[in-house]
Amino acid sequence: MSDEEWTKQEITEMEKLEKAGQYEEAARGYEELEMWEKAEACKRLANPDEDDSANANMGKVDTISMKCPYCGASQPIASKSNEVTCKGCGKDYVIPKKVLDLL
Ligand SMILES: [Zn+2]
Repeated sequence: MSDEEWTKQEITEMEKLEKAGQYEEAARGYEELEMWEKAEACKRLANPDEDDSANANMGKVDTISMKCPYCGASQPIASKSNEVTCKGCGKDYVIPKKVLDLL
């Protein structure tokens, strides 16, 4: 068997592992074949929480908004600070603790 055919067979094996959800195994195999991009993609699939968690949390934060008690303008709360400055009227107001707990 030529090297090229051998490599093709190896890749087929990795794809099988990938489909079976054995991403770490597949990543190791791809590294041996020096297929770095595929290896990286498999590693990401193996550890989906690692670099996506920050983005996921940001998405959650964006969904919480507060209404200003002075002018009624609502604005998203994106920090754990318990005081925000209203973009509508410029006054400071306090975020209730139970709202902060949602962040
Ligand atoms: Zn306001």
